[in-house]
Formats: sequence, structure tokens, C-alpha cells
Amino acid sequence: MSLKEELVKFCHKVYDKGYVSGFDGNLSVRLNENKILITRSGVNKGNVTEKDILTIDNNGNLIEGNGKVTTEAKLHLKVYNNRTEIKSVIHCHPVYSTAIASSRDEFPNDVFPEVILTLGKIPICKYATPSTAGLADSLEPFVKYANVFLLSNHGAVAVGESLELAYYRMEKLEHVSKTLFVAESMGKLKKLSGKEINELYSIAEETYGIKVDKRIRL
Ligand SMILES: [Zn+2]
Repeated sequence: MSLKEELVKFCHKVYDKGYVSGFDGNLSVRLNENKILITRSGVNKGNVTEKDILTIDNNGNLIEGNGKVTTEAKLHLKVYNNRTEIKSVIHCHPVYSTAIASSRDEFPNDVFPEVILTLGKIPICKYATPSTAGLADSLEPFVKYANVFLLSNHGAVAVGESLELAYYRMEKLEHVSKTLFVAESMGKLKKLSGKEINELYSIAEETYGIKVDKRIRL
């Protein structure tokens, strides 16, 4: 499967999962050092075909394809231009994650051990007007290390070393956000203590060889 075909597949997947509605969201994958495949503006992700995928350079200029480059490309470029290891960026408006981003200043991610290890610290970026450079700049404090970002009053971004990994991170983020909502509706959240979290990091390293980057530790 070509990268373009893979990108189309994940567009359909985020739509089927309900992570986007209308023309929301945009997905991209890095083709090489200076070429990125990205969904065009104004297309429903459930209807994306290879014709809706544009090729842009690291400055956001259109190289190949027909259609308008999404204004949210700036968000994708912010990540690619700061992280050489990142190969894919997915931006969606999933209900539960977006609800947390619109009601909280901090994400309560000291609850589920496996989320602490896989997603790490989940930053909520300061509100910025969609489509502006300010939105891309809101990622700045966390762009060098975060796996996922919440955008205040807007949505979520997941990044990964592959399309699949970026997608799984988006899926995990929405899943944990939904679980938190249900848990909080049932009672007070039982958070893990600093001691329990430190023990988790040690066990993960000793038993599974999972070394969590210090910058995404809680
Ligand atoms: Zn958006």
C-alpha cells in the first residue's frame, strides 16, 4: 500500500470513529525530507479519495495536486519542522477530548497507568484563532516532545513516527477522555500518587524496557 493509499485509509477511519464531522480535521504524512502529503481543504474525511491528497513542501507551498491547501497545514508544519522523527500528524475534533480542551486548564492524566506510559503528559495549548499562525505557535511550549496536544476550544492533534502510530495515539486520547467523563459522572476520580507513578516508570523500564522520556513524565 502506498503512503497516499494509507493516508486515505486513515481519513476514512477517523470519520468512521466520529472524530470529525463536516469538513473538520486534516491528516498528513511525510513523504521525504521536503515533501508532505496532506488532505485538501473542504473535504469530508469519509469521502476522501487519492485526488483529495495534496503534496506540499516544508513551507506549505503546493507542489502537486488540485485543491486548496488547508489553513491548518501550519499546525502540521510546526511539528514536522521541529521533529525530524515525526512522520505523521493527525488533527481532529473528537467529542470527549475536545470537551476536555474546552472546559479544563489541565488534563487529568494521572489516572490510568497505561496512558501515563503511552501518551505521557497531555498538554492543553492556549486558545488561538483557528487558521492563524497563532494556532501553530500555541504548540510551541510542547512541540519538541509531546505525543498528543489538546487545542483549547478547538480539538486535538496526535503525532507519530508512522501514520498508524499517530492514529493510535488519537484513538487512545479519545478513549481515555471518554473514560474520564464516565468515571467522573460516577464519583470522584481516584488519582495515582507520585509514589505509584514513579514505581510504574521503574517497573516499565525494568520489565518491559520502556523508557519514558523525562519531558513527558508527570
Ligand atoms: Zn481544527
